[in-house]
Amino acid sequence: MRDIASIDAFAIKGVGMTSQRTRDRLIERLHKKGISNSDVLRTMRLVPRHLFVDEAMASRAYEDASFPIGHGQTISQPFIVAKMTELLVENTPMENVLEVGTGSGYQAAVLGGLVKNLHTVEVIPELYRQSRDLLYKLGYRNIRTHLSDGSWGWPDAAPYDAIMVTAAPNEIPEPLIQQLKIGGRMVIPVGSQNSEQKLLMVTRTTETGFEVKEFDSVIFVPLVSS
Ligand code: SAH
Repeated sequence: MRDIASIDAFAIKGVGMTSQRTRDRLIERLHKKGISNSDVLRTMRLVPRHLFVDEAMASRAYEDASFPIGHGQTISQPFIVAKMTELLVENTPMENVLEVGTGSGYQAAVLGGLVKNLHTVEVIPELYRQSRDLLYKLGYRNIRTHLSDGSWGWPDAAPYDAIMVTAAPNEIPEPLIQQLKIGGRMVIPVGSQNSEQKLLMVTRTTETGFEVKEFDSVIFVPLVSS
């Protein structure tokens, strides 16, 4: 596990395989692979992903790959982070957003650079503490981290303009739809661990109605529910 207390300006800036140049090359690759939202690319260019992975993996942090973060969980591949973020934020400025599945905190940091207020919920205490401390250390004051089962959302700060879920339930959790503003959208991988998961965009169209659009096939860890 990374020693957050030892992270200083030098570590944040990075060197060699963790330098800005290496990060810029990742951004170019994402652009070539079809990510076109310039706000998303600009924000991802600024987030030091090498601090969100295990120290032993830091030199590989700007490969377009997912990595283990302990406790059987993974930090998502940058392309998937970019794709889901692009679907979520589109062109509208967003005030209040929820992420379910903080994990390493990387996706939260990317969203934190794009929206006014982000709430993020994690169910594993060690991951919650580590990502909370890292995001604070990196200066994200608009991100509120919570230790909780996010399949119930985070009702205290609802309704949300948008919700991003980064672990896969078998079905869309009803409480999450209820916590969206009318017109709000949720990006969520849905499907079981043994079959295909699909990335869905769920838009709450009316008080009781919602619309679902299907995107790429994806692989996520399961959303646990208590
Ligand atoms: N967004 C993360 C990806 C983490 S993987 C990142 O950028 O690193 C998915 C995370 O969802 C794991 O940390 C897992 O513990 C968490 N998770 C699974 N079920 C959950 C639940 N019901 N509520 C909150 N978090 C959950």
